Amino acid sequence: MIDYLRRSWAVVNLNNVAHNFTALKRVLTPGCKVMAAVKADAYGHGDKYIADQLVRLGVDWFGVSNLEEALSLREQGIYHPILIFGVTPPENVRQLNEYNLTQSIYSLPYARELHAAAQAAGVGIQVHIKIDMGMSRLGFVLDNGFAEISAGEIKEVCRMPRFQAQGIFTHFACADERNDDSMAYTRGQYRKFCALIARLEQEGVTFSIRHCCNSAGAIGYPDMHMDMVRPGIVLYGLSPSDDCAGMIDLKPAMELYSCVSMVKEIADGTPVSYGRCYTAHRKTKVATVAIGYADGYERELTNKARMLVRGQYANVIGRVCMDQLMLDVTHIDGVAAGDVVTIVGEDGGRRLTFDEMAALSGSINYEKVCLIGKRVPRIYRQDGKDIGVVDYIRHYGVKGKQSANGLYSQTV
Ligand SMILES: *Cc1c(COP(=O)(O)O)cnc(C)c1O
Repeated sequence: MIDYLRRSWAVVNLNNVAHNFTALKRVLTPGCKVMAAVKADAYGHGDKYIADQLVRLGVDWFGVSNLEEALSLREQGIYHPILIFGVTPPENVRQLNEYNLTQSIYSLPYARELHAAAQAAGVGIQVHIKIDMGMSRLGFVLDNGFAEISAGEIKEVCRMPRFQAQGIFTHFACADERNDDSMAYTRGQYRKFCALIARLEQEGVTFSIRHCCNSAGAIGYPDMHMDMVRPGIVLYGLSPSDDCAGMIDLKPAMELYSCVSMVKEIADGTPVSYGRCYTAHRKTKVATVAIGYADGYERELTNKARMLVRGQYANVIGRVCMDQLMLDVTHIDGVAAGDVVTIVGEDGGRRLTFDEMAALSGSINYEKVCLIGKRVPRIYRQDGKDIGVVDYIRHYGVKGKQSANGLYSQTV
């Protein structure tokens, strides 16, 4: 594993995932199921180790964005129920059936297409009906007089013989905002969702799994858990928003590190990096660090962010390059090539977070972790030991085994 340490790497702490899962379970209504959102490679944390850990912790379902992600989980030996939030092309209907995947149905035309394909293939598909309120994304529309039409369409979908309509769900637009207006809006969304379900029930259409809460909903609206919640971000130990910070006790699962490649002293007036947008205003000790925007460390952080070297903060100076960036380490004694640089994590009692990085580039922690590049190996830590690595670049490694989805993973 030592060969990773010359560049950048992420450490994913599986004990912290367990801590977060337990913290969430503590606030859930007893009996409420948990669907872990592991889309986007488990928010950049690596879906294999995260999903395995969640299975051990007793998760009930997994939620993914698309068929590829669902197949990745299946190929890695995850047999739990999986809901695909996004569109699966009707051509792939056989795979939905063969891999026992549950598909979201978000409109009547899509339902008809997928159903026709299922009929042609002679297969049955389990589906969850997706309701849209406030997002204007996927889903049957409920707002502004559309409830009547949508109810009729949903009934039609549920009668389609190749479909087994097990669930119905919606997604909140602003459950993470704790001001009066947003909270009233979220409660209004929930009431409309419940009214639709009640109306369908009266007409003989029932669902065994009703769900609406993402992380923010699950921790902020204990009366809305219904049959299942769909947390993502809190499982990775990050807060859905500043408003939600501290609502439950979370431990960030991911830390991000890099290495000093070289240290040099530059004279007053010497420019640093592309475009010369930073110029030393005194004799400056510069550390070149082996991370750049190709690793997901955004160029937007140029001249804004800071890192930890030998327990002290050091500012990013000059443009962030594709593979490297520079730090001002003038004030830090003894910095040398090979020193570990903490980008997210703790060193010497000081801390850096994805939230800070996100705030500096006008983004959110969700985007930061998703952007961690495939050049950054994920190292999995449990009980203080490194138990595995996922390396997205070295697919053809000679040690270890290549998994069906092309990821190279090994036990170290
Ligand atoms: C991503 C996603 C979630 C999880 O959201 P978090 O804010 O990360 O908890 C839940 N439901 C759906 C439909 C999603 O796409």
